[in-house]
Amino acid sequence: MLKRLSRHKKHLPKRVLLIAALLAIYMLAVAIAVVPALLQANRLQSQARQADEALTVLLAAKEAKRKEPVYVNLPGAEPVWAIVEDYTRPDSLWTVINKDRSIPTSYIPSDLKIPNVEERQDKSTQERSVRAVIIPHLEAMFADAKAEGHNLMIGSAYRSASLQQLYFDNYVAASGLELANQYSAYPGESEHQTGLATDISTVSRQCYLEECFTSTEDGQWLASHAYTYGFILRYPKGKEAITGYQFEPWHYRYVGVELAGALQKSGLTLDEAWPYLQSALQTLKANGAI
Ligand SMILES: [Zn+2]
Repeated sequence: MLKRLSRHKKHLPKRVLLIAALLAIYMLAVAIAVVPALLQANRLQSQARQADEALTVLLAAKEAKRKEPVYVNLPGAEPVWAIVEDYTRPDSLWTVINKDRSIPTSYIPSDLKIPNVEERQDKSTQERSVRAVIIPHLEAMFADAKAEGHNLMIGSAYRSASLQQLYFDNYVAASGLELANQYSAYPGESEHQTGLATDISTVSRQCYLEECFTSTEDGQWLASHAYTYGFILRYPKGKEAITGYQFEPWHYRYVGVELAGALQKSGLTLDEAWPYLQSALQTLKANGAI
């Protein structure tokens, strides 16, 4: 019995060794199978992190490009910071409307409002309205003019396409199509439909919508000060062939103080400035700002 037991004892380490060896082989196999997978996971994680970082850099660059200031460079004038709007839309402050560039007759500005300035009281609410966005500038101009002894008055501001049609038909009936087209616009081609333009006279109605308004003190004050409030004389003398309209010393259009100043300095009409505006618009689009 003792002898058997001692033999058994003698065989025990061998079995343990075998189990240990098997265990070691198993662990080695596990290690061989798992380690590459762990390494692969680690590599993928690092790649994902790198891709994330690259995307963050890319998005930051895109965002910086989107916010990059774009300038309108009119000849002879300081660069003007381009407003971030699509100027081809009728509701843009820099929209250009003329005989070549019309707007949909269905367009009605969404923010029409009556300004707190002198106006022809016999005109409809519509025709006494302008876009709210220009009202502070218009009111400041009228108030400053008044402080200097010039009692300005709005003769006609916003006009819908159908009201423009009515005016145009009347002018055609009175003076024929060719002549009417020199001082009035087809529906869809009038700046009055944007709510950004207004015919300005004086309360006295001296030279009301007549060229001689230019020689009145009120007309002269307007001609030399309007641009400082963001308004341009839209149809100047000597530019009839470009604008397509007769000289209209009463018709003013809001474009903002910066662009109005640059136009004044460069001597360009808004029609002539259009290619420069278009170029800025293309850059804004390329930058993803619009
Ligand atoms: Zn007008």
